[in-house]
Amino acid sequence: MSDFDTIIRGATVVAAGEATIADVGISGESFAAIGPDLAGSTEVEIDASGKVLFPGLVDAHVHFNEPGRSEWEGFATGSAALAAGGGTCFIDMPLNSAPPLLDVGAFEAKRHAGERRSRLDFALWGGLTPHSLANLAALAGCGVAGFKAFLCPSGLAEFEAADEATLREGMKISADLRLPVAVHAESPAALAAHWEKFPPPSPGTMADWLASRPVSAELAAIEMALACARDTGCALHIVHISSPEGVDLVTAAKREGIDVTAETCPHYLLLDAVMACEIGPAAKCAPPLRPAATVDGLWKSLAAGEIDTIGSDHSPAPPELKQGNDFFAMWGGIAGAQHGFPLMIERAVREASWPLLAALVAGNPARRFGLGGRKGRVAGGWDADFCLLAADESVIGREDLLSRHAISPYVGRRSGWRVASTWLRGEPVSPATSGRFLVPGR
Ligand SMILES: [Zn+2]
Repeated sequence: MSDFDTIIRGATVVAAGEATIADVGISGESFAAIGPDLAGSTEVEIDASGKVLFPGLVDAHVHFNEPGRSEWEGFATGSAALAAGGGTCFIDMPLNSAPPLLDVGAFEAKRHAGERRSRLDFALWGGLTPHSLANLAALAGCGVAGFKAFLCPSGLAEFEAADEATLREGMKISADLRLPVAVHAESPAALAAHWEKFPPPSPGTMADWLASRPVSAELAAIEMALACARDTGCALHIVHISSPEGVDLVTAAKREGIDVTAETCPHYLLLDAVMACEIGPAAKCAPPLRPAATVDGLWKSLAAGEIDTIGSDHSPAPPELKQGNDFFAMWGGIAGAQHGFPLMIERAVREASWPLLAALVAGNPARRFGLGGRKGRVAGGWDADFCLLAADESVIGREDLLSRHAISPYVGRRSGWRVASTWLRGEPVSPATSGRFLVPGR
């Protein structure tokens, strides 16, 4: 019997806060040894010199929309796209599946769909809405990773926004359950006040859409959520922060001792307002894309270590919902699970570092959402989840897209890095790979 099942030799390994050339030995589903010139016999030996061995992404923010809206995406296509982008694990949002994940029945249906069709390991978010408060404890018993709330309308009538009283009550319950609450932070009151002064035209262009959702609405919502976290002691996660000012509020709250983390998404780091107008419907999202100066500010926050996690917020929709001339009427959401991460690498390594990038996309989300100890790091005894990255230039083509619909804001964009392969629990991910449902630890 061999000492290892697989040894990957000579890659630059991003592990333990460093990026150094090493060999990585895998036994069964786990990393067994990491070090220079590993001795011992192995069944499979792979020369990865020139490549980077990077922890598999733990994407805590995807919308795969199954069951119920799998014509928009689905576990099979969504997980295939994420795996092609270096992902090995995801936490699916409670919407836009139908029904949304607001009760035990919806949880069971989604868990079964994921177990049947996901190529990657996964956990599930429950929903926090005015009508789900009574279900949170039962959902915690099922093993959800936490609860997601929208502070403004979600776009779906069946997933209602949480007003301040609902959020406060939900966070009180979640604190007792020792689960985090994630919020979409845009204040409906601040948006309404802005629209009063600057009524959005109908139909409206992409530029009108961008102008209709100012950073001030994000800040007002973050402040409200932080006040609830301060009062309830609940762990708070602000998803898709689009501005450095939003990150600043989180940083100040952390100094105050509030248990809060900040997520941003690749599209807020890769795309700006000018690009959004050029790209069109594929770049519509909320909060919207921001001016280049805001993007640069977000990169400064990232490099300063003030952002905790990066999630793709992969949220596709069929082409018929992403067309027309009214950017207010068309569906929002960016399909970025496949290319967001590889496209970020160049600037992230230049302005931050490989280990910080690994913490943002893998180590931190795994730890924050109860998957630490098995997911998110290249370390002995942890699941052998990783990707091999190659510094190859390419231009992203529509034919490369693995999502259900070939829509992406990154088509035509040059990428300096390519995901050469993605490995889940010691094996390369393929259409035959079967993902497991993960119950996060508390
Ligand atoms: Zn989302």
